[in-house]
Amino acid sequence: MSLNQTAAPKSVRHLATTVLMRRLIKESVRPYLSWLGFALIFMAVMAAATAFSAWLMKPVVNYIFISHDREMLWLIGGAVLATFAIKGLANYAQTTLLSYVGLRVIADSQDRLYAHFAHMDISFFHSNSTGKLISLFTNDINLMRVAVSNALTAVGKDFLTLIGLVFVMFLQDPQLALVSFFIFPTAIYPIARLGRRVRKVTANTQVEMGLFLTLLEQTFQGIRIVKAYNMEAYEKSRIAAIVDKIRKLSFKTARIRALSSPIMETLGGAAIAIVIVYGGYKVIENQTDSGSFFSFLTALIMAYEPMKRLANLNSALQEGLAGAQRLFEFLDIPPSIHEKPGAIELTASKGHVRLEDVYFSYVPEKIAINGVTLEVPAGGTAALVGPSGAGKTTLLNLIPRFYDIDSGKVLIDGTDVRDVTFPSLRTAIALVSQEITLFDDTVRANIAYGRAGASEEDIIAAARHAAAHDFIEELPQGYDTMTGERGVKLSGGQRQRLAIARAILKNAPILLLDEATSSLDTESERQVQSALNELMQGRSTLVIAHRLSTVQDADVIYVIDGGKVVEQGNHATLLAKNGAYANLHAMQFKEEESS
Ligand code: ADP
Repeated sequence: MSLNQTAAPKSVRHLATTVLMRRLIKESVRPYLSWLGFALIFMAVMAAATAFSAWLMKPVVNYIFISHDREMLWLIGGAVLATFAIKGLANYAQTTLLSYVGLRVIADSQDRLYAHFAHMDISFFHSNSTGKLISLFTNDINLMRVAVSNALTAVGKDFLTLIGLVFVMFLQDPQLALVSFFIFPTAIYPIARLGRRVRKVTANTQVEMGLFLTLLEQTFQGIRIVKAYNMEAYEKSRIAAIVDKIRKLSFKTARIRALSSPIMETLGGAAIAIVIVYGGYKVIENQTDSGSFFSFLTALIMAYEPMKRLANLNSALQEGLAGAQRLFEFLDIPPSIHEKPGAIELTASKGHVRLEDVYFSYVPEKIAINGVTLEVPAGGTAALVGPSGAGKTTLLNLIPRFYDIDSGKVLIDGTDVRDVTFPSLRTAIALVSQEITLFDDTVRANIAYGRAGASEEDIIAAARHAAAHDFIEELPQGYDTMTGERGVKLSGGQRQRLAIARAILKNAPILLLDEATSSLDTESERQVQSALNELMQGRSTLVIAHRLSTVQDADVIYVIDGGKVVEQGNHATLLAKNGAYANLHAMQFKEEESS
C-alpha cells in the first residue's frame, strides 16, 4: 500500500461553482428542502411587503402632499404600519428558518466527516496532521454554513425583493425603469471576477489555518521539549510568521471584497442621478405625476441594498465554496483498508497467530517488513526484540489490520485476517501500547472502554487483577474520578495499570503488548509487572519486550533487525548461540546493572 492513496489532496483545484453548488445542495441541503420551502414563502411575503411599501409612496405624495386628502391620511398611515409589521414578521420567520437549516447543515456535515474519519485507516492519520483535520471541522464547515445561508438569503429574499421592486418601477414608469436597469448589468462582470479571486485567496487561507493549528498543537504538546531546548523564541517566530501570513491573506480577501463597493456605489449613484434628472424633467414637463416619480425613486433606492448583496453574493459564496471543496475532498478519500465483501466472523478460540512470509512497506521504495514468518503459540508468549527501527511495532500493527500487508499471510487460528469482519477481528485482540490513552472520562469508563455495559463486579475484578483497585479506591471519587486532560493526574505506573485493567476486562484471546520503556520506580515496576503477568495469563501474547524477565519467560523469542527475523528460539538456546540475541542481552543486562 502507499501513503499517497490516503494523503489529502495538496493542491486546491478549482471546480466549477455550479458543480460544487449542486453537490452541496444534493448532499447537505436536500433533507431540509421543505423547511426552505417555508422560508421561501416568508421571503416572498417580505419581498411583496417591501415592494408595496415603495408603491405606497405614490398615494402618499399624490393624496397627502398634493391633494391634501384628510381621509387618506389615516388609511395610508394604517397601510404603512401594516406593511412594515408584516415585513418584520415575515423577516423573523425566514431568518429563523434559514438559521435552523444552516445550523443543521453544519451539524450534519460535522457528523458525516467524523463518521468518515472514524473509519479511515491509521496511515491517513499519519499523513494528515491533527490540526489540519480539526480545522476542517471548525473553519471550513463554518465557511460553508455562511455560504449556504448567504446564498439562500440572496436567491430568496434579495432576488424576490428585487423582482417586487422592479415590478413597482415598471408599474410607475416603464421607460425610466429600462434606462436605470441598463446600468446595473455592467457591474456584474467585474464583480464576478472579484468573486473568483476571493475563492482562491480563501482556499490558501484555509490551508494556512490548518498548518497554524498543527503547529499550535505540536508546540503545546511538546512544551517541555520546547522549554528544555530553549526553543521558545524559535517557536514564537514560527507562529508569528504563520499568523502574519494568515493576516495578510485575510486582509487580501477583505480588500478584494471591499473593491466591489466603489464599483457598486458609483453605478448606484449614476442610476439614481439619471432617474432624478430624467424623472424630474418629466414631472416638470407634466409628463408624469409626482407620486409615480417618488414611488419609482423609493423603489430604486430600496433596490440598491439587495442588488449590492446579490453582487457581493459571489465573493461570499466563493469563500464558502472553498470550505465546501476542502470538505468534499476529504470525504472523497476512501479508506485504503476495506472489509472484504462477505467477510466472515472470526472465531478466535485459541488465538494462535501466524505470520507467513510477510512483506510490507509504508512507502513504496522503502521496505519495512522483509519476508517475516513467525508464530505466537496458542496461549503462549512470543517476544519481539531488536534495535529500534527494526520493524517490531510494524509487525504488531499488521495483526489487527491497522495496515494491510503487501504479500504473505497473517493468520489467526488458520483464518486470514483479510477474510474476517473488522469487529470480530478487533474483538479477538487486546492492545496495550506504550502510549497510554486515557479519555476525558471516569476511571470506570476508561476501564470499560470498548465494553459498554460491563458490570461493576467485572470492572472491579479487572482493576484488582491489574493491581489498580487499591489506588483507584484512594482517588477522590474512587471509580468516578475523572481522568484524562481535565481530570486527575495519574503517575506513569498508574496509567499503565489502568490500561492493563482495560485489556483484562476486554478478555480477548490475543494480546498485543508494547512494553513501556519509560523507567518506573522499582515498586511501580513490580506492580506493573504483576499486572502484566495477570493479563498474559492464558492469552496468546505477542510482546515487544524490553524487560529481561519477559524475554526470559517467553516461549519463543524473535530477534528482528532490518525488517527480518535474524534469530529465533527460546532464551537459553539463543544465549547459547552467542549471536545477535546474546549481544542484545549482554547490553541490556549491563544497562540494568548500572541503573
Ligand atoms: P521498531 O518498532 O522496531 O522500533 P518500527 O516498526 O516502528 O520499528 O519501524 C520500522 C521501520 O518503518 C522504520 O524504518 C520506520 O522508520 C518505518 N516506519 C514506521 N512507521 C512508519 C510510518 N507511519 N510511515 C513511514 N514509515 C514508518
